[in-house]
Amino acid sequence: MVLKDVVGLITGVLISSIVTAQNTVAQKVKRYNRVGNLKIDTSFNSNYLNDFMVPYQEFADLHNCKIKIRNKNIKTTMAARPHFLSLLLGKRNRRYVILVNKKETFKGVHLKNVPSDARIGLFAHELMHIRDYESRKVTGVMKRGFQYLTHAGKKNVEHYTDSLTIAAGFGQHLYEWASYVLHDSDASDEYKYYKSKIYMSPVCILNQIEESYLKQ
Ligand SMILES: [Zn+2]
Repeated sequence: MVLKDVVGLITGVLISSIVTAQNTVAQKVKRYNRVGNLKIDTSFNSNYLNDFMVPYQEFADLHNCKIKIRNKNIKTTMAARPHFLSLLLGKRNRRYVILVNKKETFKGVHLKNVPSDARIGLFAHELMHIRDYESRKVTGVMKRGFQYLTHAGKKNVEHYTDSLTIAAGFGQHLYEWASYVLHDSDASDEYKYYKSKIYMSPVCILNQIEESYLKQ
């Protein structure tokens, strides 16, 4: 092999390793997209972002919150939580995460099967959890965490969050969501029963919507 060939070979190896390294970096960068203060998992971005933006645009008070949407194995369709360590950094530095279930064998409701209107209701509900956290000091947020340890506490928080969702003007969407979960979804009977015990029922949501109209 002449010197020219050796140089050519080394150059080729170097270029291909640089390209591979760049691709790896590009893949890492592409895991999340940024929209304002939102950091969104790319798979969520391409499938559900338009629906998510419907309630999000309405909630101007949340536009300064740092919210990350990421996929994770969880026991429900979605969940909104404060980033625990950020709670210690003061209210201005708080961060939140909205988790989206990615477990294929999950016996509950998969986001991909949910009709758009119902999905908007669920997204509005998750954002109301963040509005609730934002209204609280660290001790109040901790209290929410403890409430989740009991059935009664959990029911209390979820009913309150459903009320916030209705008051924020997304009652009809929430009704679509609650009704889909209990009557149209492929979730197991056990999961539906659990949901019916913790969350506001479709009838209860309609009653609250009606009451809110009467108060106006
Ligand atoms: Zn909730």
